[in-house]
Amino acid sequence: MRIDILTLFPEMFPGVLSSSILGKAQEKGIVQFEVINFRDYSESKHGTVDDTPYGGGGGMVLKPEPLFRAVEAVTTDSKPRVILLCPQGVPYNQKLAEELAKEEHLILICGHYEGYDERIREHLVTDEISIGDYVLTGGELGAMVIADSVVRLQPGALGNQTSAVEDSFSTGLLEYPHYTRPAEFRGWKVPDILLSGHHANIDKWRLRESLRRTYERRPDLLDKLELTPEMKKWLQEIKEEKKMADKP
Ligand code: SAM
Repeated sequence: MRIDILTLFPEMFPGVLSSSILGKAQEKGIVQFEVINFRDYSESKHGTVDDTPYGGGGGMVLKPEPLFRAVEAVTTDSKPRVILLCPQGVPYNQKLAEELAKEEHLILICGHYEGYDERIREHLVTDEISIGDYVLTGGELGAMVIADSVVRLQPGALGNQTSAVEDSFSTGLLEYPHYTRPAEFRGWKVPDILLSGHHANIDKWRLRESLRRTYERRPDLLDKLELTPEMKKWLQEIKEEKKMADKP
C-alpha cells in the first residue's frame, strides 16, 4: 500500500510515521509513505498556496492550482482514493478504515487556514472525511489518524493478527476487559474463568462481557447488530444485573 500525504507542515510527520507499528510496517515493506509539501507545487515564485476569499470575509483560502498539480504528480497509478481532511466530511469510523485498508493507494490532503477553494472538493477529491465534530487547526492530525488505523489492518502489520479482528468496533461490539499478571493486585482478583484454562468458556465470557460493555457505554451500536438468541438472552440478563446494581 502507498499513502501520500500532502501538507504544508511535513515536519509534523516523521515521529508518528517512523514509530511503533507504522515504522515497522514501513520497514517490512507493507506500506510506503510519502510526505509532500504542496507548497513545492505552487506556480508563484514566492510559493503562494492561499489567497483571500472572493466576496470578502476573514481567513485565507487554499488555492486550487498547487493541490491539483501535487495530486496529479503523485497519481502514477490509475485510481487512487484522494481524501480531503475536512470537518464537513463523512465521520470517520472503523468501517471506513476497513474499506480504505483494501485500497492500494491513498492520497491524504491536509487543509489549513479557513478552508479550500470549492473546486478542489468538486473536481479533485474522491472523498471528504472528518475525524470528529470539532475543528482542528489543520488536517495533519486527521491524516495521522487515517494512516494509523488503515496500516494496522494490513496483513502482517500487527504482531498478532487476531488482535485487529477482535478490536472494538471490528466485531460491531466494544472489546471485552483484559487482565494480566498478577492474578491478585491489592485485593482485586482476576475473574476465575480467565484462570480456568477452559477456552470455550473463556470465549463465551468474553463475548458476554463485550455485550455488557457495549450496552453500558455505546448502546447505539447494538441497534445495528443482528444478535443470536444466546446473545439476546445474555443482554436481557445484563440489563437485569444492571438494574439490580443501580438500585440504591
Ligand atoms: N472553516 C472550516 C470549516 O468551518 O469547515 C474549518 C477549517 S480548519 C480551521 C482547517 C483545516 O483543518 C481543514 O481544512 C481540515 O483540513 C482540517 N480539519 C479541521 N477539523 C477537522 C476535522 N474535524 N476532521 C478533519 N480535518 C479537520
